[in-house]
Amino acid sequence: MNIHEYQAKQLFRNYGIPVPDGQQAITPESAGQIARQLDGDGWVVKAQVHAGGRGKAGGVKLAKSLAEVAEFSRQMLGTRLITHQTGEEGLPVNTLLIEKTYPIKREFYLSLLVDRGSERIIFIASAAGGMDIETVAKESPEQILSLQVSPAAGLQAYQCRKIAYALTLKGQQIKALEKIMQGMYQLFLAKDASQIEINPLVETQTGDLFALDAKINFDDNAVAAHPDILAMKDAGQEDEKENKAQQYGLNYITLEGNIGCMVNGAGLAMATMDLVKLKGGMPANFLDVGGGTSIEKVSEAFKLILSDHSVKAVLVNIFGGIVKCDIIAEGILAAVQEVHVNVPVVVRLEGTNAEQGRALLSNSGFNLFAADDLAHAAEQVVALAEAA
Ligand code: ADP
Ligand code: MG
Repeated sequence: MNIHEYQAKQLFRNYGIPVPDGQQAITPESAGQIARQLDGDGWVVKAQVHAGGRGKAGGVKLAKSLAEVAEFSRQMLGTRLITHQTGEEGLPVNTLLIEKTYPIKREFYLSLLVDRGSERIIFIASAAGGMDIETVAKESPEQILSLQVSPAAGLQAYQCRKIAYALTLKGQQIKALEKIMQGMYQLFLAKDASQIEINPLVETQTGDLFALDAKINFDDNAVAAHPDILAMKDAGQEDEKENKAQQYGLNYITLEGNIGCMVNGAGLAMATMDLVKLKGGMPANFLDVGGGTSIEKVSEAFKLILSDHSVKAVLVNIFGGIVKCDIIAEGILAAVQEVHVNVPVVVRLEGTNAEQGRALLSNSGFNLFAADDLAHAAEQVVALAEAA
């Protein structure tokens, strides 16, 4: 799960990580008021979307007057921001973060994540901050430092100093960096984060360190244990269909093709998508309805698939192991009746009572094609999608 920058910065404050003075706003008027209260001589207006790369895309604007704060806010609110991380539809800008600007001397990169290879939480740091870390990693990998934290010993002061020296920090800054790194590590553990990224961490002209940007991802399998984090969820920033699917316990991912796929079991779903591609088609989605599926789930799955207007044909591929095929066929018929399916549906049922299931579908009078073999089913659905 992702949260907004302003929410991440609130968590940073709670863990002693210094962030610029600022506050979120949802109208140009309140943006202006916040700026006035911040009494600086410059402000920054930042679009709050669940994506990076905002600076280059016009989502971070430096304002030299209160009038400019209001003007930039008016320009950004209610639009969709497209950055290299959002896809071409962009993400809605409904909240802004208004902050004081600071004269920046240097920009660093500092992040914390789980490294599966070493089975450790690791810090990644670089003196080349402010830009894409992927680019730095590719073009000048020697500029990237990584540091493993031992789960038994925790983060040690000497490890923080090592990073501080590598970033050529001096005097009080070394202690300040240690405090930031300890705060990040405590926050990471306490809230089951999967990534905390500060890009840039800045050194101001007066020598202070601030987290100028803040990004936190949380482990989806752990957020249920953190109601405070769950409350920060902004569903408007996520794929609508994927949100719905989560609500009904379906594993759904939107893809670019025109063949809707409904399958039980993630492995079978992958194999089905492979086969559709092999036969010259392109899946519109990945959808796993789960092993012990119900009529309700099948019905919701159909609604989801059909709400995607690029879907020209649907392939249902269900293996009746835990549930019998005739029961599944009844579920499919109930769903088709309820949902008003207006595209051809190819159904491949295999397993217990497969014959009865197929007979039910064939005799239903609906636009259903009962296939007896998966390869044929895939060929059929690709042909139907092409003909549409
Ligand atoms: P993104 O990573 O989405 O592009 P950032 O928050 O990193 O957004 O902002 C982009 C750039 O804008 C920063 O690298 C920094 O140079 C500048 N910037 C952001 N906030 C401030 C601030 N409070 N004062 C001065 N410059 C800022
Ligand atoms: Mg950034």
